Amino acid sequence: LQRGLAHRAEVVVDLDTIAANVAVLRERVGRPLMAVVKADGYGHGMLPAARAALAGGADRLGVAVVEEALALRAGGVTAPVLAWLNGPGEDFAAALSADVEVSVNAEWGLAEVVEAARATGRTASVHLFADTGLSREGATPTDWPGLVAAAARAQADGDVVVAGLWSHLASADVPGSPAVGAQVRVFDEAVAVARAAGLTDAVRHLANSAATVALPETWYDLVRPGVAIYGLDPLGGDPAAHGLRPAMTVQARVALTKRVPAGVGVSYGHSYTTGAETTLALVAVGYADGVPRAAGNAAPVLAAGTQRTIAGRVSMDQFVLDVGEDPVAPGDPVVLWGPGTEGEPTAQQWADAVGTIHYELVTRVGGRFRRRHV
Ligand code: PLP
Repeated sequence: LQRGLAHRAEVVVDLDTIAANVAVLRERVGRPLMAVVKADGYGHGMLPAARAALAGGADRLGVAVVEEALALRAGGVTAPVLAWLNGPGEDFAAALSADVEVSVNAEWGLAEVVEAARATGRTASVHLFADTGLSREGATPTDWPGLVAAAARAQADGDVVVAGLWSHLASADVPGSPAVGAQVRVFDEAVAVARAAGLTDAVRHLANSAATVALPETWYDLVRPGVAIYGLDPLGGDPAAHGLRPAMTVQARVALTKRVPAGVGVSYGHSYTTGAETTLALVAVGYADGVPRAAGNAAPVLAAGTQRTIAGRVSMDQFVLDVGEDPVAPGDPVVLWGPGTEGEPTAQQWADAVGTIHYELVTRVGGRFRRRHV
């Protein structure tokens, strides 16, 4: 392995790769970019990922919850940060005191932000979220004019500045989806309503990773990619097609090998049986570490230069490989997924094998894996 293996099980994150991916995307869109670093930087480590994204030219950072934004500030990050998944009772006072921009979905949420602005003596920078068809966060077209009017009043009172108007796409990763155009039309209408109410200075942003690589008509004033900055293809194909490279490699050491005869059942339930005399290799990571249980008899790993499917069920702390006559010994590296450039499987291959998306794999890998940034 090019990067070596410093620990029995580790997630190696190449920060220069994150910076390079951001630079590629920033260059492609030719406008400001908000790097999404929520969920611990999609499992890559939020602070190091944020710093790498900023080094690569990101203009802003986006996170789901206020605690994540405060952790960025505590780590010395001074770039603009937007926190968006704000429920009732959110600590907006802490957010405003740390210069964190907040997203608002509803009039009652705006009222909480105004209260915090008055309590802290600050002007809150808010992004109004329009639900244009995802039916998750945001105000529906019915509720939008009321939210806009309340925000315009709060802005006139000096309690808030409406810095952004935004929404999120449901099907940007589905080529040719009519849902994209429909959401763009609803978004344009929402922007027109806001501008007519005097909210003329807000930046508009809509594009996630899939839209950033594939849908220029959604780029507006700012793009907001997450998964693509980590080098994963939002369209489920080869990231190299977009000039991107995966930043994460997940690897572990073989803990034990043993020779067994043909006809031996392997792991719980004996869902795998050896076909001939062979060597079994034990790898000490399991579903408690974020290796999906569905990877048993399904997902490939690289051992001794060959990709092999995990033999039998993945347990809580371990899984087994049937390595045949390959010279695999205790201590040897096994790569679960990585960039795919040295024969190892990719997170996309794993996602296809276990019936999920690479987002879920990279955000869940953890437990007893040690993360190492290179
Ligand atoms: N914007 C919002 C509101 C999100 O919730 C997310 C992630 O789910 C993103 C942007 C980034 O999405 P992606 O990782 O697909 O680029």
